[in-house]
Amino acid sequence: MKNKLFLLLTLAFVSVSTFAQTMPKDADPKLWARALKIHKKAIIIDGHNDIPSPLVDEDFNLATDSVGKFHADGDPFHTDLNRFKRSGITGEFFSIYVSGSTLKTGGAMRRAMEMIDATNREVEKHPNELLACTTAADIRRAKKQNKVCVLMGIEGGYVIENSLFALRNFYRLGIRYMTLTHNVTHDWADAHRDEPKNNGLSEFGKTVVREMNRLGMLVDISHVSVKTMSDALDVSTAPIIASHSGARGVNDHTRNVPDEILKRLPKNGGVIMINFYPSFLDARTNKEENERTAKLKTQTDALKEQYKNDRAAFNEAERKLYAENPIYIAPYTRIVDHIDHIKKVAGIDYVGIGSDYDGIPFLPEGMNGMEDLPLVTYEMLKRGYTETEIRKVLGENFLRAFSKAEDAAKINSRQISGQGSLKKIRN
Ligand SMILES: [Zn+2]
Repeated sequence: MKNKLFLLLTLAFVSVSTFAQTMPKDADPKLWARALKIHKKAIIIDGHNDIPSPLVDEDFNLATDSVGKFHADGDPFHTDLNRFKRSGITGEFFSIYVSGSTLKTGGAMRRAMEMIDATNREVEKHPNELLACTTAADIRRAKKQNKVCVLMGIEGGYVIENSLFALRNFYRLGIRYMTLTHNVTHDWADAHRDEPKNNGLSEFGKTVVREMNRLGMLVDISHVSVKTMSDALDVSTAPIIASHSGARGVNDHTRNVPDEILKRLPKNGGVIMINFYPSFLDARTNKEENERTAKLKTQTDALKEQYKNDRAAFNEAERKLYAENPIYIAPYTRIVDHIDHIKKVAGIDYVGIGSDYDGIPFLPEGMNGMEDLPLVTYEMLKRGYTETEIRKVLGENFLRAFSKAEDAAKINSRQISGQGSLKKIRN
């Protein structure tokens, strides 16, 4: 009996210690152990990770230990295979992000092709850890196999270069969501911080949404203007997502989603996946970050000139300058303030996680990378969320929305036939 108990205790310790997280200071050890247990059991889906950019530009390999390392642009790494394991993440959306500058230079589609290839090559290199996924069923399968599901979403609707032919081929390549804009307005959709040109979505933009519905590609409203969000909800017959945005009710930032949109989620079935960037999470961080950038501009420009032939030296000097001028960085508990708000305004079924790892210059206080994701589970538990509620936020809500989009695609495919609906339309 005693031996059995010892064995059970050992097993419990081994399974919980997979995450090997440092318990937050002042945490209740019992509650922390329970949080890790819930976290380990849950299907966890993260809506947005920008690691494909260094996969292409810096030949980064996910097997590389990225702790304490920096991208070529100076931002810290948050992702690698070992950190994936510690994070407990089941499904990660690799962002096929293409800069809005391609609207001037061209090459958007080529860039997306490079990012998709680089992502697939990581899956090919690491078959024991990663699994290429395109369906909700794939995600559940990956959980059973103890692998990380690699999913892909396009960031920036201009990537399809106004071609529904291209959109359909991106679906065939495995793209399962498309963020309708990035930070700039383009031919058929208005962005959050740019001049509107389409009064939200243009007629072609609405056709794009319908075609995404027909394919089973989720419509992503992160980065778009409020009118574009509203138009997407009007047109979409499937649940929409915000792959990496918070709630304006907590921080009134254009990258976040206002209450008027949150209130429409129960009818639509969509999910707002919370971005971890402290400046989106918290008004004070945002304000102090902007002020610091302005205050240090002359010094930063001088450093740029001084190290114009040595990017690494510039990055280091810039980091030093920023460290000497610290700002308030919102703690990880602020993520749960956004979850609380969406729970209150829309309901617990409409909120998820969309970290933006490797796409943001710093994480909330207390977090260093994806390995610290269990802190969010702990904070929810601490605030009285039930295990069912926690599992919904961590991944089940997204899975429901994704499955519904898959079902809607089947229905739409029957309703629309032939080439008529698939005709290329140009603005
Ligand atoms: Zn983004």
